[in-house]
Amino acid sequence: MKLSKRIQTVEGSKTARFIPLLDALKRQGRSVISMAIGEPADDTPAPVIDATKRALDRQQTRYSDMAGLIDLRNALAGRFAGCGQDNIVVFNGSKQALYTIFQCICDPGDQVIIPVPCWVSFAEQVKLAGGEPVFVATADHQLDVDAMAAAVSDKTKAILINSPNNPTGAVYPRQDLERIARLAIQHDLMVIADEAYDFFVYDNLPRSSFYDLETVRDRLIITRSFSKHYAMTGFRVGYAVAPSAVATAMIRLQSHLTGNVCTFAQHGAMAALEMNDGLLIQRRADLQRKRDLAFDQVSGLFPCIRPQGAFYLFPDISGHLHQGETSGDFATRILEKSGVAVVPGEDFGMDGHVRICFAAPDDQLLAAFKRIREVL
Ligand code: GLU
Repeated sequence: MKLSKRIQTVEGSKTARFIPLLDALKRQGRSVISMAIGEPADDTPAPVIDATKRALDRQQTRYSDMAGLIDLRNALAGRFAGCGQDNIVVFNGSKQALYTIFQCICDPGDQVIIPVPCWVSFAEQVKLAGGEPVFVATADHQLDVDAMAAAVSDKTKAILINSPNNPTGAVYPRQDLERIARLAIQHDLMVIADEAYDFFVYDNLPRSSFYDLETVRDRLIITRSFSKHYAMTGFRVGYAVAPSAVATAMIRLQSHLTGNVCTFAQHGAMAALEMNDGLLIQRRADLQRKRDLAFDQVSGLFPCIRPQGAFYLFPDISGHLHQGETSGDFATRILEKSGVAVVPGEDFGMDGHVRICFAAPDDQLLAAFKRIREVL
């Protein structure tokens, strides 16, 4: 059987592969500590669980509007000045939102500028849409806007910005977002802003969303998620905020793809929005404390830039590589010898590093670093 050329050029998700891999190791009786997959260890909030159960009891088990429940879209639109429900589309996680965006904006050969290191799915999603990812290096994990400007060509369609960043935890300052906005306007490009971790910014740094920049809104698509903030990764609810013409195109694709997002999961998401910000503020404080704990541990082992947001460390492990070893080999060595799972930096386009998720219980964090230290 011959598979399409399209799927042959695409690799499976390098982060998601850890889910079955670690399950298999645990079933073999191995003692595994996962710091690989990016998900919070917290419980899903009780109001979300209750609302989902109530939705099931009320038989909210049928198709819903393909763009998302009207009440959910209205509630989301209310959080973005000048937005209406026509600007909001609910997806099965922001991962599907991003996939859909590239399908809707890329023609074959169109280029999308992506700062690296970057989340594993961006490039593959651009390729699935027939586009070409154009990687631009960052400097100490911050944007190199001059290099991004130099990468613009007559094929450039969009610039993709992910802040707080996965895998580095970098948060880009507003003046850099403004420079990117000016670049996009000057060259008539779209801006895609993946803001899946938008609330998780530490040390009282300002939370800068691209949406704050009014001049760019007519060419801006934002994706956000319930997964990380509300520990709802399995619910698969995320959304995009987009100009209405783009939103309409995305809904057209959705109508042939998944139809709506699970109806009762959307009721759970609505309950999350109805909660006041107290829970998020508390989770952010707890993650900042974990960031400090994990940063303290990692700094004793490897050079590492202190993350300002999200929940990842991205240390430079190059000083501990055996001859010829890549970050992938290193991660395999650590997993085999210590049972601690981390994601190789090469999967994010930056070898010599690994990504460590610190959204784990404290005792696991400490145990994981102890095991890594022993292997080293
Ligand atoms: N976004 C998370 C991560 O980077 C979950 C897995 C995935 O979708 O990539 O680990």
